[in-house]
Amino acid sequence: MTYLAAVFVFIFGSVIGSFLNVLIWRLPRGESIIFPGSHCPKCNHPIAFYDNIPIVSYIILGGRCRHCGERISLRYPLVEGLCALGFLFAFWYSGFSFSLGFFKSIYLFSSLVAISFIDIDKRIIPEALTLPGIAVGLLFSLFEHDILNSLIGIFVGGGILLCFGFIGGVMFKKESMGFGDVELMAFIGAFLGWQKSILVVILAAFFAVLLGGGLLLLKSRKRKVDDHYIPFGPYISLAAVIACFYGQVMVDFYINSFFPA
Ligand SMILES: [Zn+2]
Repeated sequence: MTYLAAVFVFIFGSVIGSFLNVLIWRLPRGESIIFPGSHCPKCNHPIAFYDNIPIVSYIILGGRCRHCGERISLRYPLVEGLCALGFLFAFWYSGFSFSLGFFKSIYLFSSLVAISFIDIDKRIIPEALTLPGIAVGLLFSLFEHDILNSLIGIFVGGGILLCFGFIGGVMFKKESMGFGDVELMAFIGAFLGWQKSILVVILAAFFAVLLGGGLLLLKSRKRKVDDHYIPFGPYISLAAVIACFYGQVMVDFYINSFFPA
């Protein structure tokens, strides 16, 4: 039975991933999420349902449009596969149960995947994802009887980034961090509470220096870097996913090491 449920969760994750691909493309372009249906961006031919099966269709079609042969970005099956595996992991983490924690983590995970790719593409973090996320996070915490932690998390998470943005603005005499990052951290704070929010900022800064620094070096070798603005959203998101599952272990370790009872 568990085995069957796991297969269902995997397929459900890939379907959500397929929907996220639509969000990632349309949301920053201000297009409707529902109309028109999926179509090839090159030849505009509508994509039939049997050519729109997550992961499977990409493999069957050999990564090309059935009608014009245009290459389909590898990102589509990648996002679908990422969500399928992410959902499966969350299911395993929840002890193979459809608990509140399971739904909470897959909501956060899905939002962060969409936010990360939109930030990479367009350097924006859409409020259409972060602001409802804050409300949903509060709702979950209401059911978990942990609403105060969630409320403080919103202000601690958003507040730290607001301070960073202010300091960065004074240091570099230009806006170094968008308000979207502040809203993203408020969203994460609502979901994870204030302690894990601090952890997320620390981990994100670590990833940004480690991965972002490496990426910047690779890029500047290949082409002239016209802007040194690094999208911070993907690093915050990666940190938040880790904190969502292993944040409590890390926070407890810190407290026990430095403030033993
Ligand atoms: Zn086509």
